[in-house]
Amino acid sequence: MPNQYKSKICPQCYTEHRKRGPFCSKVCSNKARIVTQETREKKAESMRAFMNSGNETAEKIIWSLQATKEEREDGLPLPQTPDPIGRNQFVSGGDLWTQDD
Ligand SMILES: [Zn+2]
Repeated sequence: MPNQYKSKICPQCYTEHRKRGPFCSKVCSNKARIVTQETREKKAESMRAFMNSGNETAEKIIWSLQATKEEREDGLPLPQTPDPIGRNQFVSGGDLWTQDD
C-alpha cells in the first residue's frame, strides 16, 4: 500500500520520504545511532566469550589470525589478490582504459 505514511524529512540526510519511522533507510538509522562506551564494552565482552567458547567458527577465526601472524614472522609473503588491471590496461582520470595491440 503506497503512501501509507505521511511525508516527512529524514533527520540524517534530509531526504523527503514516506516510509515507516523517522529515517529514510536503515543506513541513516544506523548513522544516527549513538554507541555508548557501555555498549562497546558489552560487545567486547560478548566477543571475548564467543572467542573462548570453543565454537567451531571462533576456532577458525583464531586459526586464520594466528596463521597470518606466523606468516608475517616467517617473512613469507601474504596471499596477494590478483592485480585487477590487465597487461594492456591503464587507469587515467579514474577510468580504466584498454590499449589495442
Ligand atoms: Zn536518510
